[in-house]
Amino acid sequence: MNESILLAIDDNPTRQLLSRALVALDYETVVATDFAGVEKLLRESSPSLLILSATFQGKGSLPFINNLLQQFPTLPIVYLADSQSREHKQEALRAGIGAYLEPPIKTDEIIAAIKSGLERAHRLGDWLRRNIKQSTASLEKRLGELEVLLKISREINSSLELDDVLQNVVSAAVDLTNAEEGSLLLLDESGTELYMRAGHNFEQGFADSFRMPVEDTLAGDVIKSGKPLNYNKDKTHKIQTAYLIQALIYVPLNVRDRIIGVLGVDNRVHQMPFSERDTLLLSVLAANAAVAIENARLFKNADSERLKFEAVITNMNDALLMLDEDKCVQIMNRSMASALDLHPDDVIGRKVTDVLPAGDLLDLIESSSGTTPRHYEVTLENDHTYTAQNTRIPDVGTAITMQDISSFKEVNRLKDDFVHTVSHDLRSPLTAVLGYTELLERVGELNDTQRDFIKRIGGSISDITALIDNLLDLGRIEAGFDKERERLNLEDVIKDTLHKFENLYRQKEQIIEVDLAPNPPPILGNPLRLRQMCDNLIANAVKYTDKGKKIFVRLNSQANELILEIADQGPGIPLQDQTRIFEKFYRSHNVIGKESGSGLGLAIVKTIVENHQGRIWVESKVDEGSAFFVVLPTAPEE
Ligand code: ADP
Repeated sequence: MNESILLAIDDNPTRQLLSRALVALDYETVVATDFAGVEKLLRESSPSLLILSATFQGKGSLPFINNLLQQFPTLPIVYLADSQSREHKQEALRAGIGAYLEPPIKTDEIIAAIKSGLERAHRLGDWLRRNIKQSTASLEKRLGELEVLLKISREINSSLELDDVLQNVVSAAVDLTNAEEGSLLLLDESGTELYMRAGHNFEQGFADSFRMPVEDTLAGDVIKSGKPLNYNKDKTHKIQTAYLIQALIYVPLNVRDRIIGVLGVDNRVHQMPFSERDTLLLSVLAANAAVAIENARLFKNADSERLKFEAVITNMNDALLMLDEDKCVQIMNRSMASALDLHPDDVIGRKVTDVLPAGDLLDLIESSSGTTPRHYEVTLENDHTYTAQNTRIPDVGTAITMQDISSFKEVNRLKDDFVHTVSHDLRSPLTAVLGYTELLERVGELNDTQRDFIKRIGGSISDITALIDNLLDLGRIEAGFDKERERLNLEDVIKDTLHKFENLYRQKEQIIEVDLAPNPPPILGNPLRLRQMCDNLIANAVKYTDKGKKIFVRLNSQANELILEIADQGPGIPLQDQTRIFEKFYRSHNVIGKESGSGLGLAIVKTIVENHQGRIWVESKVDEGSAFFVVLPTAPEE
């Protein structure tokens, strides 16, 4: 393509003459009519050279040249002066014009100036292109380095394989610095020697057996000073390394403010020194390696804690089942698996409802709500009885733990049999004793003291007889002698009980808040026993609650069940006693000595509830109060 020359010349004849001469020499010409036109044409049609007259459009063009060369620094300008002032010439040359032609201007002079201007411009263009190429190459190299660093840091975040990560760090160090070898040396436990944790271009045997003292070595110096070292054989005299090298870099590995080793690259054969940039790159890689080592340490710690925890859970005697928020099995330990005759591998991740057979345990899980742990007694298909606790753990799920209490149950049964027999055998002689004390008055005159004694004997005997009656009652209920059932309204039973205790709670100035759902569905039950149940629960609330405090009696129905709640503002029951208060004779230590009782009432209540296919539990906090819940199934439709 022909080169084009931009003409910005006021004088018409000169311009036309020049134009013709240039066209004859195969140049193209474009003509600008003002300064703005010059800029526009330079930008749009990129002419190769500008011929500018000293006065253009009636103005001096020197100031314009300054501005122009800032925008187009490589543009050759041939300047046609109109005076012969020396200062003007110097000024124009200083501004950066390519050729200064003084009048009288001859065409061949102009042509020569154009040629040399263009030649210079071409040389400048070549130089620029070369320079750009070099800059691009160096930019590409930097980009490559960045990519490697990015890859390494991504790898550190995604891989837990420390060996792989460290190996890659060392390989990257060698690649980025064009080194012959690279190594990551770590301090051993004694802190006096370094061993090779990862190496690149070392023989495996050499790397494995490599040992370097910390004292009097370059690596040791770096560890002690904490500063990187860029060593070149030419500039330093003999410094000890474990092998002969021409050049090397060591940078410290800093983990939690402690230097644990060095990352290094070296040249053994070539006398190529490393640059400061290489040191910088290595420092970045060392920081990455340090993160990887720290991550691995944290992971190892967490993992060993997890393994310990897992071992405890697996081997503990208590059975444990852990469910997530969706009731899928997360953990089932060995005791739980053997109690349920299941294999943990078959159930992990599955819905608990698909895994457990219908029964007590599943009912317990399905009925769980709230974060207060619940205690139940469940009997599994293996005929063992367990106490089971259901604990909601916020954001985790539910933990069900069970302890096998079958042997205690058996001992309990034997004890019950014994107590039952003894009570039975005691009752008749006690009745005889009571009869004879009553007869005493009839056989002779008694003084006041004797009458007082007889009254006390009578009182004690009725206490013992009440206790024995309770025991025998319990025996009868447990044996299932009260099988008769009738449709009845629990509401009526509750009202009878409240009526019975009216005097008592009025005396204690207690406030009873009764909230019975209107027309609750009837239940199938034994009126005598259900009355006994309500009596015991309300009697306890009245007995243990202080004067002036509140007692709440609530009855609700939901999904074929009636829920009776008897709550109070009494002393509450310590958590560890809450499972035990339903046992015979068990009394919580915080009431003993304050209120009298036999510890049989709740055992009777529980047996009655269970004989009616119901459930009972307590929710209580010390110093706040207790709430006893009884759930009974409603009667089927007639
Ligand atoms: P008793 O009341 O004769 O001791 P129970 O079997 O009725 O026997 O109750 C067992 C234990 O449960 C009591 O001794 C007491 O420790 C505790 N308890 C029962 N009801 C309440 C209540 N409403 N408030 C506080 N503690 C209670």
